[in-house]
Amino acid sequence: MAGPERRSGSGRGRRRHFTEEAAPVIWSPKTRLGKMVHSKQITTMSDALKTGLPLREAEIVDLLLPDVEDEVIDVKMVQRMTDSGRRVKFVITVAVGNKDGFIGLGQAKGKEVGLSIKRAIENAKMNIIQIRRGCGSWECGCKTPHTIPFAVTGKSGSVEVTFKPAPRGIGLATGDVAKKILRLAGVSDCWAFTEGKTKTVVNYAKGVYDALKKNAEMRISAAEISKLAIIEGNIGVPPVKEEQPPTPPAEPTTTEGA
Ligand SMILES: [Zn+2]
Repeated sequence: MAGPERRSGSGRGRRRHFTEEAAPVIWSPKTRLGKMVHSKQITTMSDALKTGLPLREAEIVDLLLPDVEDEVIDVKMVQRMTDSGRRVKFVITVAVGNKDGFIGLGQAKGKEVGLSIKRAIENAKMNIIQIRRGCGSWECGCKTPHTIPFAVTGKSGSVEVTFKPAPRGIGLATGDVAKKILRLAGVSDCWAFTEGKTKTVVNYAKGVYDALKKNAEMRISAAEISKLAIIEGNIGVPPVKEEQPPTPPAEPTTTEGA
């Protein structure tokens, strides 16, 4: 699998180059949420998701999370014999994230790798969710948002993935696919337990995303929020590095300034 080469041939570079000169993104939004973001009625990704309106335009993410990164998780070639010969299609799975509380996973299928990657990225952006991070581990108690604050389990096909809070400094004690996704989400420490065929990369990735979705949707009380130092979405600073001392008198739980 020639990941890097394929990515550079993806036409994404060309597009980026093109839009770079035309400073503000040229975009005529078609959906209600798109219009609200375009008119600056909504200015954060957090608020956009809180509206509960469907996110059907990738440009919303481009505007609200300009530093979002993408990573190709899987490229699968599907061959089919037809009367006229062999047909090859690619199924691409991509994760996007801002390394600070937002993560999405998307897929696209097509005859051309580059174009399919581009569409998979757009789909991943439209699937973006806001996760919760916190300290969460009673062995740790550092009160910084370095791990997932409570255990969650996700499933896809035969794969079941359980994430558990880990003390600071443990790192991502997970398989490679989970590592890539958690990194993009901005989680620094985490334990993972898996069942099923995690070699099926796509199911593993979907299981990871499903677990993070549970993390995003779980009902939590105000008491838990303060006990586990839980924050939602972005904190605006890079996640804790090993050698840094715990951030000074940590601000309680608010994420954005009013
Ligand atoms: Zn901690």
